[in-house]
Amino acid sequence: MNLILKATEFSALKHQNQKRKDGKTPYVIHPISVAMILSEIGGIDDEEILSAALLHDTIEDTDATADEIDREFGSRIRSIVEELTDNKELSYSERKQFQIDHAPNLSKEATLVKIADKISNVTDLIDEKPTDWDDARCKEYIDWAESVINRCPKVNMKLEEHFYNLVNSYH
Ligand code: NDP
Ligand code: ZN
Repeated sequence: MNLILKATEFSALKHQNQKRKDGKTPYVIHPISVAMILSEIGGIDDEEILSAALLHDTIEDTDATADEIDREFGSRIRSIVEELTDNKELSYSERKQFQIDHAPNLSKEATLVKIADKISNVTDLIDEKPTDWDDARCKEYIDWAESVINRCPKVNMKLEEHFYNLVNSYH
């Protein structure tokens, strides 16, 4: 089966009962938007990277496991998704700091998905912001996202430019 369609179905099923923090958007719209950003802005056509984008929040936010992703999609996709999965055993602030500290160690593939993820989230904050977030909380998130992206390996100028333009339009 086409890998991207299979990843879309898997992600839609795993996230089926979840909404984004605007309270109304089905969660799967976000991983689909991350894959579309990679394709349309980043020019990425590697099906495994686009599938990893579709799956990037499944281990973190659903009952999907790394073994399941490995079995269904292979070890390269599993490894990209694992790199993008926050360790829930850490506290909120430790998780946020971990992303900043470990950004320089990300693989090229995980970096691409990470930038597209932050582009999607910052776009959502501008268009469909979480119901209980005020402007200060949005600004705090955007400043943190910028600190993460600043430390990522430079892998795709178009994605990086798009991210910084978005951030600068918010300031
Ligand atoms: P986060 O900062 O982790 O929430 C942001 C994440 O939510 C994004 O990275 C994105 O993750 C996801 N998301 C879902 N919908 C949207 C949307 N519409 N726009 C942008 N991003 C979206 O913190 P939480 O809100 O999950 O907070 C966790 C806990 O920490 C809460 O109990 C909170 O009260 C507490 N806390 C709050 C602080 C504050 O107010 N500054 C500080 C410290 C703790 P993804 O890519 O995974 O979808
Ligand atoms: Zn995400």
